[in-house]
Amino acid sequence: MAELIHSGRDMLVALHDIAPQTWQDYRPFVEAIDRMSVSVPMTWLVVPEFHHGKSTFDDPAFMSLLESRLAKGDELVLHGYYHCDDAPAPRTPKDYFMRRLYTVEGEFYGLAEREATERLNAGMALFERQGWPLKGFVAPAWLMSEGTRSALRTSGLDYTTDPKTIYSLPEFEAHSAPTLVWSARSAWRRKMSYLVNERAKHKHREAQVVRLGLHPVDMRYSVAFDYWIKAIEDMLDEGRTPRTKHQWLRAGRPHRASA
Ligand SMILES: [Zn+2]
Repeated sequence: MAELIHSGRDMLVALHDIAPQTWQDYRPFVEAIDRMSVSVPMTWLVVPEFHHGKSTFDDPAFMSLLESRLAKGDELVLHGYYHCDDAPAPRTPKDYFMRRLYTVEGEFYGLAEREATERLNAGMALFERQGWPLKGFVAPAWLMSEGTRSALRTSGLDYTTDPKTIYSLPEFEAHSAPTLVWSARSAWRRKMSYLVNERAKHKHREAQVVRLGLHPVDMRYSVAFDYWIKAIEDMLDEGRTPRTKHQWLRAGRPHRASA
C-alpha cells in the first residue's frame, strides 16, 4: 500500500513576466525580499522577447542580474517566448472568451504541436547558450493547447504548471499546488484580489504547498506590494519552507513510498 510521507509545509514564490522591461517594477520588491532575515529562494519566469520588444538574452546587464540570482539559489524557468497571442483570430465563442476577454497573452493557447515545439526549442536554446539549467516551462496566463502539452512531453523538461497544479513531465503527473494571484490592474480588481487572496490564504493554510504568483503590475500598487510582503512573512512565521519549484519537486513534495 502506498503511504504519503510529508516533509513539512512549503511555499513557492514565483515572479512572472521577467524581462528587462519589467525589472523597474520588480526591483524594489526583490530588494525587500533580499533584506529579509531569512533567505527566500524564488522562481523567475523569464520571457525571451516580451511583447516582441527588446531581447532579454541580448541585454548583458540583465543577463548578469539573472546570473547572480542563479548563484544565489533562485531558479530561472522559461515563460513563453513573446508572451502575447499572435495566432489567427479566434473562431469559436470559447476561444474568443479565452483569447480576447480572459487574456490577450495566451501565447501557447492556440499553438499546434509543431509550432509549440519550435517555440519551446527556441527558448530552451537561449538557456543552453547561457549554460543555465532549465527544468520548467510555464505557459503565459497558464494556458496550454493540447499541442503544447504534447510538445512538453518530448521536451526533456521536468515540469510545467497551471494555477492549481504542478505537473511532473513527461507523464503529466499532477501534484496539487494552489496559487495566490492578484489581478491588480484596476481599483476594483485590487479590492477583489485582496479579499479573494485573503480567503484563499486562509483556506489553504494547512495545504502542504502554497504558491505565490506575482506579476509586475502588482508592484505598482502599495496595497498589492504590501500584501505580498506580508503574505511571505506570515507563511514564514507559520513554519513554511520557501523553495523554488524545482527544489520542491525534488525534495519538498510528499513522496509516495511503498510499504
Ligand atoms: Zn506571464
